[in-house]
This record gives sequence, structure tokens and C-alpha cells, in this order.
Amino acid sequence: MDIDKRRQELELKKEELITKDTRITQGIRHTENELSRNYEDQATERENDEVLDALKNGVHMEIRQIDSALMRISEGSYGICSSCGKPVGDKRQEALPYATQCIECASI
Ligand SMILES: [Zn+2]
Repeated sequence: MDIDKRRQELELKKEELITKDTRITQGIRHTENELSRNYEDQATERENDEVLDALKNGVHMEIRQIDSALMRISEGSYGICSSCGKPVGDKRQEALPYATQCIECASI
């Protein structure tokens, strides 16, 4: 595994997520500022905001996972299972770049 390449990938992904987060925030503000014509519109907008909130939470969670993966890279513990200390495995790390456990520990 090329750790520098992985770090770059993660940093790029993080930037994408921050951009996405900004767009979602703008989307929420946009609906808040619009005056609704009737009650149905207001209900739709509230639902829309809930969807956007859920999206934001998902994005924030992913950013935290990336931050933690980047920290493990700088500590030199990236790719090592946090439970048993064995390698997580290139294939698994490829599919799940933020995985902190090897497949055996994760499936317990
Ligand atoms: Zn393990």
C-alpha cells in the first residue's frame, strides 16, 4: 500500500466533503429564507430541511472518519487493526479506507 497516495486520496475526499457540506448549508439557508405560499409548502420545506440535516450529519461523520484515518497515517498506525494489532489488509483498506479493524475483529 502506498501510504502517501492514500493520504492524498483522503485529503482530496475531505475537501470534497467540506464543499458538499457548504452546499448543503446554503441549501438549508435558502429554504429558510423563502416565504411559503401555503402550509403545504412549509411542510415540504421542513421535510426538505430534515433531509438536508441528515445529509449534513452523514458528511460530518465521514469527515471525522477521514480525520481519524489521517491521524493514524501520521502516527504510523494506519492499516493496523486497533483490536488485535495485525494488518487490516490491503484489500479491505482499499474497499474501506477508514477501517480501523481487520475483518476478523470487525465481524465479532
Ligand atoms: Zn484484528
